[in-house]
Amino acid sequence: MNSTLWLRQLSAFGVRLTKRLQPTVINASCTGRPLHVHPQLTTARVIDGKAIAKQIKDEVKVEVAQIKEAGGRSPQLTVILVGSDPASVVYVRNKIKACVETFGKNAVVCGRSKNVGLPIAVFLHGDGDRGSLSGDATTTICHRYTPAEQLAVFTKTADIIVTAAGVPNLLTADMVKEGVAVIDVGINRIDDPDKPGKTKLVGDVDFAGVAEKASVITPVPGGVGPCTVAMLMKNTLLAYKMAANLPH
Ligand code: ADP
Repeated sequence: MNSTLWLRQLSAFGVRLTKRLQPTVINASCTGRPLHVHPQLTTARVIDGKAIAKQIKDEVKVEVAQIKEAGGRSPQLTVILVGSDPASVVYVRNKIKACVETFGKNAVVCGRSKNVGLPIAVFLHGDGDRGSLSGDATTTICHRYTPAEQLAVFTKTADIIVTAAGVPNLLTADMVKEGVAVIDVGINRIDDPDKPGKTKLVGDVDFAGVAEKASVITPVPGGVGPCTVAMLMKNTLLAYKMAANLPH
């Protein structure tokens, strides 16, 4: 999955934000405009990945129906799972500019993998005057050899933090400033402290703690994951249309 592509394409969909502890849903979808981070908020707005994913999938469904009506076959996706990492299993099975203003902001990306951290960082620091992958943020990439205390120095000054490290609790409340926007791409299976013998999925962020300070945050599960799945469908459709010489 091309993470840069889903980040770029997510921005076109807008985002549905659910204010934590309140039932109100702020639907900012389809505006095509990024939402600004509001540093004055003390409780984070949780980016509802499922709602965004549903919107993307609904749009894909409509297009697939149109293709079939016109006599075409359904686009198909073949999944090849390599290895047996349980987190990867969930990723495959369930398979940003996250509508956060990135222009001129300080961004920190934790992780530099070819498929996730690096393309996200490329997008975030991209030059808006020279191309479409343009976050125009001042971007710092941290990795496994960034000393923990140095990581905290960077994250404390960050307006936007994207974690893609595969390290539970990598980012804690003491490491972030008020109003930060946090996108958690990590997916880790850990022993569930509340249910002996059971496991659960968590991201790289101490969600409960960081959400107290963040303006915007993505949960795990239910944040980036569902969007990745939906974008996989959307990109499958795009590949199909390109291969079939259909307008796209
Ligand atoms: P993915 O492909 O999902 O990004 P990888 O395991 O390939 O996962 O990459 C994990 C990335 O996280 C690596 O770039 C690694 O350097 C980074 N990383 C690991 N531990 C830390 C850490 N403590 N702080 C910051 N980055 C880390």
